[in-house]
Amino acid sequence: MTAIETSTAPADAAGRKTWLAGCECGACGRKFFPKRGFCTECGSQDAMRDARIEGPGKLYSHSIIHIAPKTFKVPYAVGYVDLPGDVRVLGQIVGWDDGPLEQGMEMQIGYAPIAEEPDGSVRESFVFQPKR
Ligand SMILES: [Zn+2]
Repeated sequence: MTAIETSTAPADAAGRKTWLAGCECGACGRKFFPKRGFCTECGSQDAMRDARIEGPGKLYSHSIIHIAPKTFKVPYAVGYVDLPGDVRVLGQIVGWDDGPLEQGMEMQIGYAPIAEEPDGSVRESFVFQPKR
């Protein structure tokens, strides 16, 4: 995964896209994230190979979280995003407070801090950002 500098940019300063390290079934072509050892679409046991899961995708559903573990700053948004290859992924949404989130809106994959651990370290993860 490509790290980017800010919590709101969908790509790094060089314009490289952020993608998810998933897998693809060599037998039927179905993609998955996170990776898995066998294909739940066709049942193949040994056909999985690494694949990039890239955006943009479409927002399927979302929720604003107001009560969370202490490591997360509330409120924050999470949502399911349908990515190309029929891959539905749950992740935090950044930039959700810049305008309304609507089902079907285009979402980009980014990378950002999502929580601060008790020891002061920052947890980073892939995130989704509305393409406005
Ligand atoms: Zn398959």
